Amino acid sequence: MSQHPQYLWWNGKQMRWEDATVHVTALGWSTVGAIFEGIRAYWNPDHQELYIFRLDEHMERFERSMKLMRLPVTYSMDELKRAIVDLLRANDSREDTYIRPLAYRGGSGQRRFSETGGTSEILINTHPMPTHLLSGRGYSACVSSWTRISDNVMPPRVKNISNYRNGQLVGMEAELNGYDTALILNTQGKVAEGGGACVMLVRDGKLITPDVTQSILESITRDALIVLARQELGLEVVERAVDRTELYIADEVFMCGTAAEITPLTSVDRYTIGNGEIGPITRKLEELLDDCFHGRSGARPNWRTPVGVAAAVAD
Ligand SMILES: *Cc1c(COP(=O)(O)O)cnc(C)c1O
Repeated sequence: MSQHPQYLWWNGKQMRWEDATVHVTALGWSTVGAIFEGIRAYWNPDHQELYIFRLDEHMERFERSMKLMRLPVTYSMDELKRAIVDLLRANDSREDTYIRPLAYRGGSGQRRFSETGGTSEILINTHPMPTHLLSGRGYSACVSSWTRISDNVMPPRVKNISNYRNGQLVGMEAELNGYDTALILNTQGKVAEGGGACVMLVRDGKLITPDVTQSILESITRDALIVLARQELGLEVVERAVDRTELYIADEVFMCGTAAEITPLTSVDRYTIGNGEIGPITRKLEELLDDCFHGRSGARPNWRTPVGVAAAVAD
């Protein structure tokens, strides 16, 4: 299958991918105020079904992102959820798929700074994105020399497109310095997150993660892992400020998010984490998450929206 879908959804209509174009003069300031969501759907070959992970929570956050950036909400979240399911059916998506709704201000964008009101335009695009959960790969991270954006700069807790310039600088620095990825400290000098994924660590059998006032994005994967760690593994989970040096002496460290899924870190700033292997709690959480994503054991059905791909073709 090609990397672009046959159809996408734009401003109330499903349309062919080739037909959804904008004029080149729309580039530039138009996207400064945009917000987006990143959602994954997982293919279960035994069920011949595609499951969207926590669609309700993702679209609740989409609405909160629009509200914070003062974008008028022009479609109900129920309409958008239906549009997503219909789009995956139309594209006959039978593989792990990334779904990216994007909202931005329509019109000429001449006013740049003070623009409020007007209309929001919404685009929903999908593309294949295979899972890398349980790949067995450990990643190296550094602590970035950049500081994470703070709540009085731009709202870190939502998926505001402009926020990602910060994450981009962090990612580029990490790569040029020979690391796989990076963690970022907040303005208080405490560990925030990765700029595109949250972070969790294991110390003495407890799962620890920066709380939602540490300039983190309010991650749905992080929330799912907190629930799974408590309810399935009986672990104590602590949400609190985390010091940089706690990373270095942790037994296990991993990043988590829709794109990152669980990304185990086996070194931070060249300090070996634990014994340098992926730790047992990380591994167990990967298995639990993988099961929830694919609906294998049937646990937590309210976290999955079945798309009905097979039924759509039979229709
Ligand atoms: C999307 C994102 C995450 C992870 O959030 P999920 O809801 O788990 O996908 C973490 N940090 C940033 C900056 C993000 O954009």
